[in-house]
Amino acid sequence: MNPLYLGCIADDFTGATDLANNLVRAGMRVLQTIGVPEEPLATEVDAVVVALKSRTLPAADAVSQSLAALHWLQAQGAQQIYFKYCSTFDSTAKGNIGPVTEALMNALKTDFTIATPAFPDNHRTVFKGNLFVGEVLLNESGMQNHPLTPMTDPNLVRVLQAQVRRAKVGLIDYKVVAQGAHAVRARIAQLRTEGVGIAIVDAISNNDLLRLGPALKDLPLVTAGSGLAIGLPANFGLKPSSHSSKLPPARGLQAIVSGSCSLATNRQVVAFTKTGRPTLAVDALRVAAGVDVVGEALAWAEPLLAGGPVLVYSTADVSLVKSVQGQLGVQEAGAMLERTIAAIARGLVERGVRQLVVAGGETSGACVQALDITQMKIGGQIDPGVPWCHAACAAAGGEGLHLTLKSGNFGSDDFFTQAFTHLT
Ligand code: ADP
Repeated sequence: MNPLYLGCIADDFTGATDLANNLVRAGMRVLQTIGVPEEPLATEVDAVVVALKSRTLPAADAVSQSLAALHWLQAQGAQQIYFKYCSTFDSTAKGNIGPVTEALMNALKTDFTIATPAFPDNHRTVFKGNLFVGEVLLNESGMQNHPLTPMTDPNLVRVLQAQVRRAKVGLIDYKVVAQGAHAVRARIAQLRTEGVGIAIVDAISNNDLLRLGPALKDLPLVTAGSGLAIGLPANFGLKPSSHSSKLPPARGLQAIVSGSCSLATNRQVVAFTKTGRPTLAVDALRVAAGVDVVGEALAWAEPLLAGGPVLVYSTADVSLVKSVQGQLGVQEAGAMLERTIAAIARGLVERGVRQLVVAGGETSGACVQALDITQMKIGGQIDPGVPWCHAACAAAGGEGLHLTLKSGNFGSDDFFTQAFTHLT
């Protein structure tokens, strides 16, 4: 087996897939695990992304889960550790980006790391330490109103400094990055003599991230959004190649389940319906009334599957979602529908579906859990940020399952039909 080059710890599930996708595109063979595995790594890959759900946990819990992931990755021989967070630096005033970074630095006995959520392809840029989302500063992007992680200060040096206990936070600005890896290395050396432990790094284009990559080769730990990943595989002698995204050939029946109510998903449901393929809407109020909606959906789907993909969805527009939430409660409606869609996904796989599209971040988490999936090999990209994956799955009778997990606003309008053509 070749060495495990990169060991990644992601603070949420779809963010982990986003990172894995960028690594695959830059030439790495990548396995994503759901939580910290109990067994040693059994597949030859270049990187493993351990997906945690630690973004909004109390800081102490996020730290202990991240350290458990680190210890497993170290036991597999990971040569460099990558702590992945959201490209909008989603965190509370108390963390968790700062506390987790410091804990990883201590465990790795390193006095220096970098932090950059920049992902210019996705319109996230960092300039003079300030994070922009598209044309506006982070605190004007809507993120100031996020229910769990409101971001009210765009200056990441200040944001991160407020979250850490001991480390001094500094900046490697765009002028240094523009001069290339040599200048970045010199700036790192200078910051170290000034006692800086974590440097926010500016990046306003993909080229900045590609120039930054080689300068980070010797750091035991890097912390970033998924963007930095485009510049790291080259440090290990890897180049983009179709080999890295190779999955076993796809077989079996095809289906789509959707619990996402995002605008893009609503458009995707409309587009799929217009193709004339069979669709079934899940009615939240009937689920709440105790009707066996899962059984009904599976009985409806079973005779149709042989004819091509079917779609089962609870996707709805804002007014319907608000009305359901008003009657059932926001959390209650969400959890109930996630369970329902996940049970339908499992039933479909038990009935021979081996190519499954899931729409919705939380919905994906519920489906992966219901399918008892613990590891996924990451394949080729369907649309930016959304790859096909392949997993061993007991519900598939021990056969492999191809699945793609699409978070809310990702994917083109014809995603639900396009996705399958990528497998053939
Ligand atoms: P996204 O990635 O688009 O945010 P998620 O799956 O993360 O999608 O979140 C969507 C949430 O909305 C889930 O908790 C889901 O159960 C819930 N939901 C889905 N359909 C409905 C509906 N018709 N009414 C109310 N809530 C819904």
